[in-house]
Amino acid sequence: MAKCEKCGVELPEGARFCPNCGFPVGKMMKEEFKVSSEDLVKKVKDLIKEGNVTKIIVKNEEGRILLEIPVTAGVVGTILAPWLAALGVIAALATKCTISVERRG
Ligand SMILES: [Zn+2]
Repeated sequence: MAKCEKCGVELPEGARFCPNCGFPVGKMMKEEFKVSSEDLVKKVKDLIKEGNVTKIIVKNEEGRILLEIPVTAGVVGTILAPWLAALGVIAALATKCTISVERRG
């Protein structure tokens, strides 16, 4: 039986989130994508739609963090709007960005 990495509670079969503390279940994987600024907002939206993403970090060409988006279950629509607005501002200033994604698989 798998246990929650954060609180140690035993997890029900097939659980995607810990029923006790809400921590995502599964191994964490990191991915990085280099995108041009005009693709930034679309790429982030696509990543969130994929569903198993827990964090999205947007960096500039020098590797400085511009934005960190914590993605929890149910981050959609209106909750996401301020983040997308912030991404729009970044896209207007930068020419290329790196999107660093943390996933639970
Ligand atoms: Zn837990």
